[in-house]
Amino acid sequence: MGDIRWPKRLDRPRQPIDTYPMEHVGGCHCGNIRIQVRLTAPPADMRVRSCACSFCRSHGTRTVSDPAGQAGLWVSDWALVAKYRFGSRTADYLLCRQCGVYVGAVCETPSGPRAVINTLCLSDRADFVQEAARTDHDGETVAERLARREANWMPLVVRHGGT
Ligand SMILES: [Zn+2]
Repeated sequence: MGDIRWPKRLDRPRQPIDTYPMEHVGGCHCGNIRIQVRLTAPPADMRVRSCACSFCRSHGTRTVSDPAGQAGLWVSDWALVAKYRFGSRTADYLLCRQCGVYVGAVCETPSGPRAVINTLCLSDRADFVQEAARTDHDGETVAERLARREANWMPLVVRHGGT
């Protein structure tokens, strides 16, 4: 399983992501990382997860993913993005080095890049009202982990550059 192929050029989604109705925007505090999430259900209907791993517990993460939706990631300066890895080291947990915000995790799968997004980095975070389900993936093999992410995480579009 290779790393995410971080693009050197602008990758355009097939459709402009900003035309989707169920869209949520956000990013890190300083604006270096911007996130757009398209979901197929209103935020109040979305399951929010809080992983039991020590990283997620220390950040108090509240992540969302929608395999039928899409996540968009825009970064102004990749030098200011920490791609933190731990455990099975199969996903990059993206943090802004400048402002410290954790925006979500990304992973390369056979079906392409997948992501979960931390709802706390979205401007309408308060609309994700469900109590976070505590998930524990400790017993998984790497193969099981990747298969779960391929099925449950959301397709990711990574764009390079400021706009
Ligand atoms: Zn930042």
